Amino acid sequence: MICKLFRILISISANICPHLIKKDQQPATKKNWVTQTLSSYEACLKDKIKHAYNFKIIEVESNKYESDRIVQETGDYLIVANPSNPPLTEKEMDAVYDLPYTRLPHPKYHNKPAIPAYEMIRHSVNSHRGCFGGCSFCTISAHQGKFVSSRSKQSILREIEQVAEMPDFKGYISDVGGPSANMWKMKGKIENVCRSCKRPSCLFPKVCPNLDTDHSQMTELYKEIRNNPKIKKAFVGSGIRYDYLDHQEIQRSNFKEYITEIITHHVSGRLKVAPEHTSPKVLRLMRKPEFGLFKELKTVFDDVNLKTGMKQQLIPYFISSHPECHEEDMADTAIQTKNMDFKLEQVQDFTPTPMTLATVIYFTGFDPYTEKKIFTAKTPAEKQNQKQFFFWYKPEENKRIKQRLTQINRPDLINELFGQQLSKEKLNTPIYTKHKSKKTRI
Ligand code: SF4
Repeated sequence: MICKLFRILISISANICPHLIKKDQQPATKKNWVTQTLSSYEACLKDKIKHAYNFKIIEVESNKYESDRIVQETGDYLIVANPSNPPLTEKEMDAVYDLPYTRLPHPKYHNKPAIPAYEMIRHSVNSHRGCFGGCSFCTISAHQGKFVSSRSKQSILREIEQVAEMPDFKGYISDVGGPSANMWKMKGKIENVCRSCKRPSCLFPKVCPNLDTDHSQMTELYKEIRNNPKIKKAFVGSGIRYDYLDHQEIQRSNFKEYITEIITHHVSGRLKVAPEHTSPKVLRLMRKPEFGLFKELKTVFDDVNLKTGMKQQLIPYFISSHPECHEEDMADTAIQTKNMDFKLEQVQDFTPTPMTLATVIYFTGFDPYTEKKIFTAKTPAEKQNQKQFFFWYKPEENKRIKQRLTQINRPDLINELFGQQLSKEKLNTPIYTKHKSKKTRI
């Protein structure tokens, strides 16, 4: 039993878990294990492109149902990542989540100031692990895997009861979800097809025809939770994927029913979704759906608000300075979101995070899948020039945006965004100048 539990805990701790052995030792092996050898660490130091190709092997393997073993040489050692464990079954997931957790921070935090992250999750319930979205800037699938492992409905409802018994519980569940909310119980219709699949995403570039995208089990689960008399409201705060709108009519209307249920009963006033960009080429590199789908989601959202008389808000998240993004692409985001009456607030400038395709491209300037060179804004000035487009509506950014668009010879975009152009002398004033190693804004 202890061994079994250990296996389960190891397999939820990371999708690929490496260890180190001496170069002259043979790594332990099993029948049928295939080994992929990466370029050595030292070779990567000399040639970044080798690092990019290494990443491709790691990502492909971490997204397979049955991965190969990966080996990399460094100095006198070999780093060995054995094939990852298969996704946990529902029974195994329940065994992990039904353990008698205290639901409290570690005792070393006793009598210390409140921990904001704990405050956020203390009354939340995890329904599943893993994400098949495959966004290129996100590391979730490297940690939790592409294949979703779900708890049973009974196990989730048991935990809801436990939360309801907590002395400080006021009737509000802050989240029922996982890395992406609407993936609970979703998997391939034919498991054997998934077993030989190498796609990094089941949703991009198109929703896989083998993916069972039925949302009705989730809708049923939410109904049961809100029928519990101890629950005043159960929010779904995890991100919601709307790629399902780009599917056959039956799946589209199934998703629309789900999102209507969410907007009506499980949103705390603001539904947050992540289109992340508007530019087709940036979205392609991000492995996100085309922006038109977000527009469609907004139409559904506005309809529900109108029919129910509710005043819920739709809050889109965006990223600037992502690999492949230029200032013109940011202008496109500003124009398109302005035309939809948004004044963006939930935005971030791209921050490289380990184990993601976007970060490998940021570091190497090379996409190992397409074998193309890719631009990324890196200097503080380049990044600021992109980020400012989010805030086109602020007077201080307005002038700088107009100047930049003139400098890059795109006055047409000034017209589109503001409906006017600056005078020649104002347009030619530089916005950022280099001062020694610092960039100074003037
Ligand atoms: S076959 Fe389709 S559903 Fe299965 S893992 Fe591949 S992309 Fe996902």
